Amino acid sequence: MSSGDREAIGLSKRLYIKTYGCQMNVYDSTRMADLLAPLGYRLVAASDEADMVILNTCHIREKAAEKVYSELGRLRALKAARAEAGGRMVLAVGGCVAQAEGAEILRRAPHVDIVFGPQTYHRLPDMVARTLLVPADAAARGLLDTEFPAEAKFDFLPEMAAPQGVAAILSVQEGCDKFCSFCVVPYTRGAEYSRPADDVLQEARRLVGAGAREITLLGQNVNAYHGAAPAGTKSAGGEWGLGRLIRALGEIPGLDRLRYTTSHPGDVDDALVTAHRDVPQLMPFLHLPVQSGSDRVLAAMNRKHTADAYRRLIERFRTARPDMAFSSDFIVGHPGESEVDFAATLRLVGDIGFAQAFSFKYSPRPGTPAAQETQVAEEAKAARLAALQEVLATQQRRFNESCRGRILPVLFDRPGRHRGQLIGRSPYLQSVHVEAPDEQLGAVVPVRILGAGQNSVAGTLDMRPDAAGVSA
Ligand code: SF4
Repeated sequence: MSSGDREAIGLSKRLYIKTYGCQMNVYDSTRMADLLAPLGYRLVAASDEADMVILNTCHIREKAAEKVYSELGRLRALKAARAEAGGRMVLAVGGCVAQAEGAEILRRAPHVDIVFGPQTYHRLPDMVARTLLVPADAAARGLLDTEFPAEAKFDFLPEMAAPQGVAAILSVQEGCDKFCSFCVVPYTRGAEYSRPADDVLQEARRLVGAGAREITLLGQNVNAYHGAAPAGTKSAGGEWGLGRLIRALGEIPGLDRLRYTTSHPGDVDDALVTAHRDVPQLMPFLHLPVQSGSDRVLAAMNRKHTADAYRRLIERFRTARPDMAFSSDFIVGHPGESEVDFAATLRLVGDIGFAQAFSFKYSPRPGTPAAQETQVAEEAKAARLAALQEVLATQQRRFNESCRGRILPVLFDRPGRHRGQLIGRSPYLQSVHVEAPDEQLGAVVPVRILGAGQNSVAGTLDMRPDAAGVSA
């Protein structure tokens, strides 16, 4: 597709992207918008006014594919109405459901124009241009591109077009080689890939230049990061791990906060632990999924670590940085999980003490090994989940209470519901509600925590000179 062809179709058009699932998908949607901006597309807030609709799908939740087909049914009517009025709406499906379903989407929903996978969205401009060059009423089949291409997608993405605000996300790693028994990611996102460190550093500098004060590094298995080291730097195998990358990011002026998600306990190395000790910008809060406290279940899940290894890991982090707090993911009722196994999970939760956590009942994902196994009864799963969530909620409340009286640096990223109120994030990702003037939006400000709830805390600005240098 020549640039002339692109310009020929590049009138101002409205783009609506519906994003499902995780922050990786949020990041991908941002980049899709960046890619389509040169074709004249600008983002709008609703599908009914859009010339192009992208569903950026997620396969993690139960019945994910059926939910996408149902949304496509709704969009068929919208697309038909647009055609009747003499207009045209391009409909595209991307993300993990598109990767998993592939041609089935075009068969069940022939009104879809484009189906693309998470690794091929850099080809969107060409796919859109090819679609628009065929008259809407011509009997053309939709385009399908769900391969895992040899070229690295990131090499083809434009520089960030739209600023992300004070808290930005930056994808550094994709895919996963772990093959946990319950997870579709290795099948939908493909093998692990890490972006070269230089690319990450450049993108981070651009984000900071556009106003970001905090960056969260993203990856399906982010601490498996092993990107090519910048030219001229010494490192084993010519690669940097996540700890080394974080140290370099910590040197970017104006970047106040760093986070990373999601990590696997098996890929934590010394460099990452010591980065928590040495890099003040790295927030003392880590989401480290453990999934179960039973070694038998962890083995069945193919997690490649034990419950005690996880306990030791948490100790290493706490030794390196004593004020660290932790969050985790739990799955209850994985095939084979007994009451004894579940009791081991409760024991682990009691031993660690989480600041927050996400917990789910196991539900089979088509194509994954655990889906073929005998399933735990639904009532048992529900009872275990309720028991676990009660303990986790108590721990979260207790952690929030423990912050009362502390002065925490808060990055204000949005206005509150009431006039004169701002909402920000503490180092521990708590929502912090404060009476504060609008000028503090986008600033990191010391806040004395006065009140604690289940999911948030409240406080007051502490503008004493000695509070400004407060660390978490
Ligand atoms: S490590 Fe995470 S992304 Fe990889 S297979 Fe396991 S759960 Fe899925």
